[in-house]
Amino acid sequence: MSNSTRYTGLIDKYRDHLPVHDDTRIISLGEGNTPLIRLSNVPRMIGKDVDIYVKYEGLNPTGSFKDRGMTMAVTKAVEDGSKAIICASTGNTSAAAAAYAARAGITAFVLIPEGKIAMGKLAQTMMYGAVILQIRGNFDVGMQLVKEVAEEAPVTIVNSINPYRLQGQKTAAFEIVEELGAAPDYHCLPVGNAGNITAHWMGYTESNKDGVSNNVPKMVGYQAAGAAPFMRGAMVDNPETIATAIRIGHPQSWDKAWNVQKESGGWFDELQDSEILEAQKLLAQSEGIFCEPASAASLGGAIRDVRNGKIPEGSKIVCTLTGNGLKDPDTAIAQCKNAAMSTIDATLSDVKRSILENMT
Ligand SMILES: *Cc1c(COP(=O)(O)O)cnc(C)c1O
Repeated sequence: MSNSTRYTGLIDKYRDHLPVHDDTRIISLGEGNTPLIRLSNVPRMIGKDVDIYVKYEGLNPTGSFKDRGMTMAVTKAVEDGSKAIICASTGNTSAAAAAYAARAGITAFVLIPEGKIAMGKLAQTMMYGAVILQIRGNFDVGMQLVKEVAEEAPVTIVNSINPYRLQGQKTAAFEIVEELGAAPDYHCLPVGNAGNITAHWMGYTESNKDGVSNNVPKMVGYQAAGAAPFMRGAMVDNPETIATAIRIGHPQSWDKAWNVQKESGGWFDELQDSEILEAQKLLAQSEGIFCEPASAASLGGAIRDVRNGKIPEGSKIVCTLTGNGLKDPDTAIAQCKNAAMSTIDATLSDVKRSILENMT
């Protein structure tokens, strides 16, 4: 027996709640255990008495919550003797698949929509050594191709239709319940394929059944207006949004997510791209937390629903920040055209003048 308290990833921590055996070889990069940060300025700025926490999933090993699912999916793929995994991706799944495949010593094939994935995600996927297939088509087209090819080639699908993905991702809810001592009143997430909202609900309901918490939250899913099938009540064929991680028109967990909405008493809503970017900047500039655009949909939506009273004062809210802001530097820089940045001569007097001019 070792007395080490070294954190070795979510499968080791939650193995009693996950489908692994004692002798399963765990493929882990130390994912999970992400900070739950209580916002200190945003509630004051919106003038409402609410407790808002953000679960900063951007601090996972490859910078998104996809790592929680990928450690399980790749662990099981390897256990089942698979030599290759495959996914369609808007970027983060491909980065995670590539990293865990590298760790396991197997091959990752990723289908990504040409020109529509954020630069950081592409850089990661290349660096981890995945075989990258850029398709002339969007995520939904890629997903269909992946399903078809997996029938004919020896590859394991690691998209969220792989049930082990959701098993891994449910652990985020376990961590939140542990930290808060209970489930929050509301849990807000951005929704693309709707796997993550489904996984969180699994985690919360399991915690509740096991008696770890006596409550479950209302689950609230926010989509980008140009890619909002849950708002339209039907699949969307040409989804468009600056939040490329949720540029999905045919969600794979459609039925499951509707069940989550009904069972939890939550709702879906949509945000314009401009609202998403505004929330991203607000979080960075008033709290010091940089998430990617898709992630900011959770906070932007929550702020709107607190303002309009749909989420009442006195509520405890958790917003999942699904991915790291560094994933998408282009969108960040384009949004900060008016940043306090100037070019000056390399002299003491110019530096000093600039400081005095910019003191607030
Ligand atoms: C994958 C992803 C989402 C969407 O999650 P789903 O499970 O597909 O609903 C949201 N934000 C980011 C950053 C993602 O990578």
